[in-house]
Amino acid sequence: MYIGFDDTDSPKGMCTTYLAYKMVKTLKKEKVTFLDFPNLIRFNPNIPWKTRGNGAVGLTISTDNPQKIKRMIKNLVEKYSDTKNGANPGLVFFEKQDIPDEFLQFSSKALWKLIHRVDAKKFVSKHNLDSFYLGNGQGLVGAIGVIGYKFLDQTYELLSYRNKSKFGTKRNIDHTKVKEMQEKTFPQTFNNYDKEKGRVLITPHGPDPVFYGIRGEDPSTLISASKLIKPEEKLHGYLIFKSNQGTGDHLKNKITLENFEPYTSGTITGIVSTVPIVMKGGHVFFSVRSGNDIFRCAVYKPTKITNIARNLIIGDRIQIGGGVRKATKTFERLVNIEFINVLELKKKLQTINPVCKKCKKRMKSKGKNQGYQCVKCGRKLKNKQVIKLPRLISKTLYVPTISAHRHLTRPRQRLGTINQKNQFSRKIQWINTF
Ligand code: ATP
Repeated sequence: MYIGFDDTDSPKGMCTTYLAYKMVKTLKKEKVTFLDFPNLIRFNPNIPWKTRGNGAVGLTISTDNPQKIKRMIKNLVEKYSDTKNGANPGLVFFEKQDIPDEFLQFSSKALWKLIHRVDAKKFVSKHNLDSFYLGNGQGLVGAIGVIGYKFLDQTYELLSYRNKSKFGTKRNIDHTKVKEMQEKTFPQTFNNYDKEKGRVLITPHGPDPVFYGIRGEDPSTLISASKLIKPEEKLHGYLIFKSNQGTGDHLKNKITLENFEPYTSGTITGIVSTVPIVMKGGHVFFSVRSGNDIFRCAVYKPTKITNIARNLIIGDRIQIGGGVRKATKTFERLVNIEFINVLELKKKLQTINPVCKKCKKRMKSKGKNQGYQCVKCGRKLKNKQVIKLPRLISKTLYVPTISAHRHLTRPRQRLGTINQKNQFSRKIQWINTF
C-alpha cells in the first residue's frame, strides 16, 4: 500500500515529516512491513501557499489488515494536523503494486506547475482512491504527487526531532561540530554549513519539531554524520527519508509563452536582449529573447549572482532557470532567476577616438563626419578606433550562494551526479528513538 500525505503543518507549528515519524513508530507496532524509506518529495517551490519547502511525504508498506492501518493513519492525520492555523491536509491510499502512468504525469506536473485542488479532487474520484482531507483539501495535490513520484536521481535526509517540551525554544547547536561534520563527510553530505558566512544550515528557525536535518547521498553516512553533532539537548529520535532534494527536479520544464503563467518553474535558453539594469536594493533586471518570445527576468540580491547578471551584455547566449512571478503594481510578470548558465559570450567592443601613433595622445574630433586630429602634431585620421573590452564573466554555470539554495537546488558538488542506488534495507537503522 502506498500512503501519501501533505499539508499538515503551518508556520506556527508541526511538520509533515514529524507526522511521518509518528506514523512509522505507530505502524512498527502493528507489524507492517516497510518496503522503502519514507519518501520526502519537494514539489514546485514557486507555489504561493507552501509553508516552507513544499514537501509531501509518502510511505510504502505491506500489511494483512489495510482497513485497520488506514483508520489508524487517518486518525493520526486528524490528530496532528495544524488545521487551526491553516493546514489543509490531504491523505491518499493506493493499494495496487503498479502505479498507473496518470499518477506519474500528475506528479511531474506538480513539480513545475500550479495544480488546482479541484483537479486533485477529480483525480481522486476518477481513480476511485481511498482518500481523506480537511480544510480546502489542497494537501491532496502533494498526497497524489508523492505516490506518483518516480526517482531518477535521489538523495537522503536524516531529520532529527525534539522532545515536545522543547518545541518553539531556541536550538543550541555547536557550530564547530557542524563544520567538522561537513569536512569529514563531504561530498557524501551537502549544504550543512556555509563556510563563507560561517552559518549553520542544518537547523530550521521556526517552531517546528525538527532539530536538524542532514542531507546526503546515502543513509549510512547520514547516521555517522549525525553522531558527530552531539547536541546538548536530548532529542526524541530521527527518521531517514529518501528525497528529490538537491536534484534540480523542478527545472526540467521549458518555459514558453504558452506556459508563462504565474508560479510556473523551468528554464529558458535564449539571447540577452536588453541591457541589465540594477534596481534599488541591488536586484538586477533584464530580458531574454527565445525565438520570437521575450521574457523579462530578475535576479535578486540574496542569490549573490547579481554581479554576474549585471555583467551580461546584449547578445550573450544564456540558459536561465527559475520561477514565474506574478505581476505586481511595480513589475510586470517575470522570471525569478535561480541559476544562470552562460553558453556564449558576445565580444564587448567599444569605439573610442583614435590614438596618435607618434605622440601616443588621444586625437580630438574635428566635428561631425570630419574625422580626428592630434592636437600636438596635427596628424589626421578618418575613423574611430574599436577596442575589445574584457568580459568579467565566463562561459560557465553560476548558481546561488549556498545560503540562498532552495531544497531542490542542485548543489555544485552534485552537478552531473545521478544517484540511483536504492539502498533500502532492514539492516539500516532508518528510524531511531533515543
Ligand atoms: P513543509 O515543507 O514544512 O512540510 P510545505 O512548505 O510543504 O511545508 P504545505 O503546508 O505542505 O507546505 O503546503 C503545500 C501545499 O501545496 C500542499 O497543500 C500541497 O498539496 C500543495 N501543492 C504542492 N504542489 C503543488 C502544485 N504544483 N500546485 C498546487 N498545489 C501544490
